[in-house]
Amino acid sequence: MLSGILDHIAADRDTVIDLQRTLVSIPAIGPDNGGQGERLKADAMLAWLKAQGITGVTEYLAPDPRVSCGHRPSIKAVIPGLDTTRTFWVIAHLDVVPVGDLTLWATDPFTLSVEGEALVGRGVEDNHQGVVAALLVGKALVERGIVPPMNFGMLLVADEENGSKYGLDWLLKNHPEIFGKNDLYLIPDFGIPSAEMVEVAEKSMLWLRITLSGKQCHASSPEEGVNTLVATAAFILRLTKLHDRFPAVNPLFKPANSTFQPTKKEANVENVNTIPGRDVFYMDCRVLPQYELDDVLEAIEEMGHDICATYGVTAEYHIVQKEQAAPATPKDAEIVTRLIGAIRSVYGGDPRPMGVGGGTVAAYLRRAGMDAAVWAAWVPNAHQPNERSLIKNNIGDAQVVAAALFDVGEGA
Ligand SMILES: [Zn+2]
Repeated sequence: MLSGILDHIAADRDTVIDLQRTLVSIPAIGPDNGGQGERLKADAMLAWLKAQGITGVTEYLAPDPRVSCGHRPSIKAVIPGLDTTRTFWVIAHLDVVPVGDLTLWATDPFTLSVEGEALVGRGVEDNHQGVVAALLVGKALVERGIVPPMNFGMLLVADEENGSKYGLDWLLKNHPEIFGKNDLYLIPDFGIPSAEMVEVAEKSMLWLRITLSGKQCHASSPEEGVNTLVATAAFILRLTKLHDRFPAVNPLFKPANSTFQPTKKEANVENVNTIPGRDVFYMDCRVLPQYELDDVLEAIEEMGHDICATYGVTAEYHIVQKEQAAPATPKDAEIVTRLIGAIRSVYGGDPRPMGVGGGTVAAYLRRAGMDAAVWAAWVPNAHQPNERSLIKNNIGDAQVVAAALFDVGEGA
């Protein structure tokens, strides 16, 4: 049964191109980026689902007065399975980021260009490839008249590019009935070319601005001032000790340890013969999920206290971004083991669960107690000019979804 579906998907190259052409031609850019949201694109998807004879379709409208239709639409389409108490979800987003610098594009970003095996246009990879993977499987099931072992759910959501407040996050808060604890969740929204990375965990992220204040003076008489650059240098070196305070390693991640990096340094004085009385620098911390970011902050302030006492400066801390990681999806969770078997059977290689250094949309599900995996075969070139997606990856990803749904993965 599965092999019939895999063949069906493999023969559906034209559908990949048609769907991508439609999706690319409707720029679903959120109002945060000056767009009108997903309404027109959602209409095109509703029409497509209807034309395929897929009937279990529900639309969810998150109110958003910033767009002319007044809402941000997400679409749920479900094909019933033999076991109707569980659903295998593929969650992909309809919105795209703006084109950026148009002069860097070789073709019109909102007209699909087919260049051999590559599709080019805004959104083809992020996240049309995921949308197409879901829809190809739905189409194959309906056209072959096959009832999957459990429900197959396609969830096309709004607002992923600006924080999911009107998309997945809104759905979880306002329609929790959609999301079953025993359901399986695949988010085909990031990946590497070999398809071997199944993202199951994230590090917590802390971006911090640190301002040291002292007293500016002429460089020839330093005793009249308090040099903040010296204090800043000492503070930055002291902060390397954070690695000793938070030493855990977790081989899911690369690098396996937490990272604490001083990054940006704002300009201070303009001339060489002035001792600076104010210095500003930034820290980017990626912290393993077992640590609390508040404890990291406390450790930083404690070190700062020492620096202030030694160098006679004062310190001020401003949190630029602080995101405590969601609990990881266990590496032996059902969605993960199904996926790994399916990926191996379609793409080969050595697929494995891994952690990443920053937040993904899966965090919303994980925080709500659901196991979610992020996976796709990506170039990757999301958000870049001349965004590309390989036709064979659109097809391969759909085949992985089908193989994971039927859970016959390797050797099927
Ligand atoms: Zn995306």
